[in-house]
Amino acid sequence: MRSDWAFRILLIAGLPLFVLLLPVLLPIALAGDAVSERRLARTRCGACGREIGLAEIRRAKREAAAQSRRTVQGMIPRGLRPRMVAIWRIRCPGCGAAYRYRSDSAGGLEAVEAT
Ligand SMILES: [Zn+2]
Repeated sequence: MRSDWAFRILLIAGLPLFVLLLPVLLPIALAGDAVSERRLARTRCGACGREIGLAEIRRAKREAAAQSRRTVQGMIPRGLRPRMVAIWRIRCPGCGAAYRYRSDSAGGLEAVEAT
């Protein structure tokens, strides 16, 4: 198949190129992550107006990563393919208002109704 060969050539040529560009691509990806963290940190609480802050954003991100690890570890033995969407649960440091952020969303913080 012609497309099969094209794919193989792309893979053979693309993989070394990807490895060569990794020292450039990785810092760009990390910088993009830092920019989105800072953008979220500047979000103001809808209830009290205080900035959420970097410390709370990073805490929520770590918590979501730990939850993702627990979920994947629980799914793999059952033969399920995990779909990774991390949800960060964020609390306003000023008033405790609850927000969440989905890692697959380009948007910002989403207010969560108190239960
Ligand atoms: Zn608040």
